Amino acid sequence: MRTNRSDDRVFQNRFLESLTHTHIAVPLTIFYGSGLTLLFLTVFWGIFSAGASIGFFALGLFVFSLVEYLVHRYAFHIEPDSDAKAKFQYAAHGVHHDFPKDKSRLAMPPLVSMALATGFFFLYRLLMGDVGMPFTGGFLAGYAAYLTVHYVVHAYRAPNNMFKILWTHHAIHHHVENDRAFGVSSPLWDVVLGTMPRAKKGKTSVQVKH
Ligand SMILES: [Zn+2]
Ligand SMILES: [Zn+2]
Repeated sequence: MRTNRSDDRVFQNRFLESLTHTHIAVPLTIFYGSGLTLLFLTVFWGIFSAGASIGFFALGLFVFSLVEYLVHRYAFHIEPDSDAKAKFQYAAHGVHHDFPKDKSRLAMPPLVSMALATGFFFLYRLLMGDVGMPFTGGFLAGYAAYLTVHYVVHAYRAPNNMFKILWTHHAIHHHVENDRAFGVSSPLWDVVLGTMPRAKKGKTSVQVKH
């Protein structure tokens, strides 16, 4: 999958190219903000009790973690067996594997993620009625949490505590086995769906390069 390109341009078109760079603070503000607003409004408007609202919010977070895994595994690492697939794969994710230190390429363009978020909001409202509101809140906060973990893992050195597992897991995905360890916010779905790293214990000391 790696192309090892030295030129980090994704598009020749300057406008499209500019969309490939996103400051992490923008999506974090949008998605923590809108996620928590949906939770707050659910309680404030009396749609559900605070306890039930938080429960549905937590369910949305949990479901997001599965979507994060599936999108990373099946869309971002799609087999580039056609020109269109190769172009999509590189723009969506390949560029991050080639340039993992580029912190402006850890989130999709906010216009794209906001359009997707709106689509998910209406889909979940349709499927779940009122529950869709706090659920979407958790789902969007889950996206922001995933972005936070991904950013922190690439921008800072691993701490000496239990969170170190997130650094090791993602470093294995980048540098050892990029067909394994797809979970970024947690290794949960790699365990459940059988994509934990094959690497021997000794190799797991690999670090995300800074
Ligand atoms: Zn990847
Ligand atoms: Zn990464």
